[in-house]
Amino acid sequence: MNTDITEDQIASTESFLYDNNIWFKKDYNIKYDTFFKTGGVVKIFITPRCAKELSKAVTYLYNSKIKYKIIGFTSNIILFDEIEYSILISTCNIKNISIGEGYVDVGCGYSLQDFVRVAIINGVVGYEGLEGIPGSIGGGVFMNAGAYGYEIATNIISIDYIEEDGKQKTISKEQCGFAYRKSFFKSSNNIITSVRFKFNRSVNNKNIVERVERYHIARHSYQEFSYPNLGSMFSVNKDFYRELIKNESKSFLMLYYILKILTKNPISKFINRKSPNSSALIWLISKKMKQSNYSPSKKGMNILINSGQLSTKESFDYIVEIKNKLGDEFHIENESILGPVYKIRPEFVPLFQSIKQNLMTTEKELSK
Ligand SMILES: Cc1cc2nc3c(=O)[nH]c(=O)nc-3n(C[C@H](O)[C@H](O)[C@H](O)COP(=O)(O)OP(=O)(O)OC[C@H]3O[C@@H](n4cnc5c(N)ncnc54)[C@H](O)[C@@H]3O)c2cc1C
Repeated sequence: MNTDITEDQIASTESFLYDNNIWFKKDYNIKYDTFFKTGGVVKIFITPRCAKELSKAVTYLYNSKIKYKIIGFTSNIILFDEIEYSILISTCNIKNISIGEGYVDVGCGYSLQDFVRVAIINGVVGYEGLEGIPGSIGGGVFMNAGAYGYEIATNIISIDYIEEDGKQKTISKEQCGFAYRKSFFKSSNNIITSVRFKFNRSVNNKNIVERVERYHIARHSYQEFSYPNLGSMFSVNKDFYRELIKNESKSFLMLYYILKILTKNPISKFINRKSPNSSALIWLISKKMKQSNYSPSKKGMNILINSGQLSTKESFDYIVEIKNKLGDEFHIENESILGPVYKIRPEFVPLFQSIKQNLMTTEKELSK
């Protein structure tokens, strides 16, 4: 299995970072620092403190033809225990924030949840629905994160970013190609460094707080929070279970509707409001799944959990099976990070190739 970096490139990158006082960790075991609590050793884990440092590092890596992957808070990515990554750059230290007249500039590594708090105390409307999305500003803009009818793109004025070769640029919101869970950044190697949002104070913040509270409570009841997970695996704006069984027989569909009426009616919803779960529907639909030994979150089959009991193969088989059942209309939201590679455990190579193949097919489907 080929590596994406040579020992000489590792040594020269280290001395470059050292000479330029850009923070990094060597042979950093990232596993328990990721949202999903998976991931192997990272040969060089770079954590720049500002856009200028990030740009310097990127320029160096570009000129030296060294691959890297940028990460935010890892709340939408799956890193693999079996892969030793060569270079990851984390934006976690780029946390600047400054409020101007009618706008706020926020660094890519600032937390979305903290940003909602800043909006609350300044009485600014428009960010309430971002409550509880556990990513960074950069990761959020990358995929136009949102919930409850809100999208992060709505109040953007402009974005500063770094091109592949390290050059710093600014573009307006209109140039970003925002759509549902999409932005122009998703199909480029550009790195978002800072985002300017509209930030107009309203007279009273009572309604803002009420909405945030409502979304917070909703998330806490419907979202898996015990096991590590990455939110929804697939973005499906319809009845997820109905989509999964769309090709099943009429009698099975009938059974599904009966169970749904029994378990998801207003009375049962009220009784289970503090801890809603979809166990009954999961039980029914699991009968049609071949990977019956995989237990998803009891909150829903669209949430992949790391229960500590499953192999990467079992989890991946589950994702593929769901994907095949849903069909091409829906795409996988959680991103598998397959490189850049320093080393891969030999026994993982066949699965690595299969995941790679599968992702390439998905990318082709998406570009159609
Ligand atoms: C419990 C839970 C609930 C969730 N709920 C929601 C929800 O309601 N709505 C929703 O939209 N999402 C949701 N998510 C998914 C996730 O939180 C968002 O996608 C978030 O925006 C990811 O941000 P991140 O910083 O963690 O990015 P990461 O997971 O670290 O990275 C995701 C992608 O963004 C890229 N990226 C990160 N930073 C930058 C940057 N500065 N410039 C360019 N590219 C960058 C990475 O390269 C990677 O490809 C949820 C996740 C969890 C775990």
